[in-house]
Amino acid sequence: MNYFEFEKTIQDISKKLSVHQSKEIPKREISQIDKIIFHCTAQNWNVWQVCDYDLKPNHIDASGCPCITYTYFIEKNGTVYKCLDFDVKSWHVGKWNASSLGFCIAYNGNPKIKPKKIQIQKAIELAAYLCLKLGIEPKNVLGHRELEETGFRFVNGEKILRKECPGLAINLDDFRENVFSLIKIWSKNE
Ligand SMILES: [Zn+2]
Repeated sequence: MNYFEFEKTIQDISKKLSVHQSKEIPKREISQIDKIIFHCTAQNWNVWQVCDYDLKPNHIDASGCPCITYTYFIEKNGTVYKCLDFDVKSWHVGKWNASSLGFCIAYNGNPKIKPKKIQIQKAIELAAYLCLKLGIEPKNVLGHRELEETGFRFVNGEKILRKECPGLAINLDDFRENVFSLIKIWSKNE
């Protein structure tokens, strides 16, 4: 598997997913993207169920989001879906929406149970692919819980987690290390 072989395995469902009936799709310049954000569903939902949830009244917006909140989605069996074009500013991380691109794995986030190996493998490949495609360094691949305000806040000098996403069973430093290693391998075999 190299960069181009990985790219060919991605299934583009961006034209098949529903969008909100009346809300306009928010846009941005692709050059604004400087980080990649790792999420989990926190539910046992597939990509179609996540899209349904996002479009209906939900925890993000009382009248629903304009479109699915994640640009890529990885199912339990490792299938990687592209859900949105890069210029869509989806609503996944509050004030960081314009400057970040989100991907999500179908995983409930149980701190005692890791996601399936194939999902982590595909997440590493997807993050490496996006780093190369968008010119982003692996240190800027972050878990949702690592983003200030949406993921954590400082209260009286103490860091308080607001989200565990993508799940405390996932060590994000190890994940970035694996992304970095794969980028090196892919760059050598170009
Ligand atoms: Zn999240």
